[in-house]
Amino acid sequence: MSSENPYRFQTRVVNIGHVPLGGDNPVRVQSMTNTDTLDTRSTVSQAIRMIEAGCEYVRIAVPYMKETENLREIKNALRRQGYKTPIIADVHFKAEIAEVASTIAEKVRINPGNYLPKRVTRHASHANDPGVALELISDRLSPLLKICREHGTAIRIGVNHGSLSERIMNLYGDTPLGMAESALEFARICESHSFHDLVFSIKASNIRMMIAANRLLAEKMHEAGMNYPIHLGVTEAGAGEDGRIKSAIGIGSLLADGIGDTIRVSLTEDPEAEIPAAYSILQSAGVRITKTEFIACPSCGRTQYNIQEALKNIQSKTSHLKGLKIAVMGCVVNGPGEMADAHYGFVGAGSGKIHLYKGQKLVRKNIDESLAVEAMIELIRESGDWVDEATI
Ligand code: SF4
Repeated sequence: MSSENPYRFQTRVVNIGHVPLGGDNPVRVQSMTNTDTLDTRSTVSQAIRMIEAGCEYVRIAVPYMKETENLREIKNALRRQGYKTPIIADVHFKAEIAEVASTIAEKVRINPGNYLPKRVTRHASHANDPGVALELISDRLSPLLKICREHGTAIRIGVNHGSLSERIMNLYGDTPLGMAESALEFARICESHSFHDLVFSIKASNIRMMIAANRLLAEKMHEAGMNYPIHLGVTEAGAGEDGRIKSAIGIGSLLADGIGDTIRVSLTEDPEAEIPAAYSILQSAGVRITKTEFIACPSCGRTQYNIQEALKNIQSKTSHLKGLKIAVMGCVVNGPGEMADAHYGFVGAGSGKIHLYKGQKLVRKNIDESLAVEAMIELIRESGDWVDEATI
């Protein structure tokens, strides 16, 4: 069990290059470049900005063979500059592209909905003979599995709500079960070839659909004795506050269930802007703590100091203290009781006065609000919990 999230659905570890995914590893943060993959310079620069922001896997689209071949140039350029972050090739349609990409990238993403030729879809809509369709899929996947095994490349089976195959639609309809089954049948075929370096994802822009399908996937995996890591994301989430809230609800609901091993917050913004949002979602869900946690009340008529200014001031000085919980509360009536498991508390005590708490214990009384933030930093120092920002 993960120490940060005791409720995490236990998955197997899948190595993506040197950054393992699943098991007790931290929930990984990834993003995707939006430059032209043929433009090596722009793609490398963007990938570096993403990596510097904290991106742990860089996904790059390879729509055609030319882009796939250029992936090697991009990867080599990154490695020459000392960036070892694993690369994920995002394959749109063709098996041939996935086969080449899997010799270059540490992971390839394939979409079961459009990975196979139309003849397979036609065959499979022949519901009386589903075995034939699965055999055709197996034949189609077999060379890719062989290459991935030889190169130590993982595969993400990435189902998108918008691109379910005709066959799956005929069998299950446009439903969470159809999305889960689309992923599971590919996984069963991979297992029949003794290939287990798999990751699942089921994405949709409709978050209710995305949440229901992922819950069903985890349930069905559990029933089948499967334990593959799950990648979470809400597609077409948009930008700004709306995009972040939509992603936080979709991804956060599943993380709260203990589902999810890697996330991408898809925003219509520069990809490096996705990374802080991803870490905030992980921190709020309590699954990966990367910064200070602040607990603050909204204030009310009982507050007799400038709580908004105090909170801003405290955040600017202490937000690097990873793992520490600091409460900023408006009054002593309800503040101490509501700050629960905070390590330190900054609580309004009367007109312009502050009490400081260490855990639940009142340790400094009636400090003038103009001196209280510095007094709290001093208390954190004396208690041995302070770290200078430069040393992190
Ligand atoms: S802690 Fe006190 S000031 Fe803050 S909202 Fe509750 S009652 Fe109001």
